[in-house]
Amino acid sequence: MYEARYAKNGDLKHSDECKMAFGRKDHNCPRCLELLAGAPSRSGWQKDHYSRKAREEESYRKAIAEHFKPGGAHDQIMARGGVGTAFEW
Ligand SMILES: [Zn+2]
Repeated sequence: MYEARYAKNGDLKHSDECKMAFGRKDHNCPRCLELLAGAPSRSGWQKDHYSRKAREEESYRKAIAEHFKPGGAHDQIMARGGVGTAFEW
């Protein structure tokens, strides 16, 4: 039967017989040997979450700066007499 030896990201997988417990690596498992040789551990959800959050906050900051720059949307709205429509800001 086909046995997936690699995870989606290309790392080796722990073997089915891997006895790793509490971070103590199993010297008969290819992935444990890879980790012992210094391979980085997989990145969890936190890295993805915080990098996406930083990108989103950066784009909000840009949108706000764009809106309030001289001659931008804010100045045009104020020149027309101020906010008059729902969702105008
Ligand atoms: Zn292992």
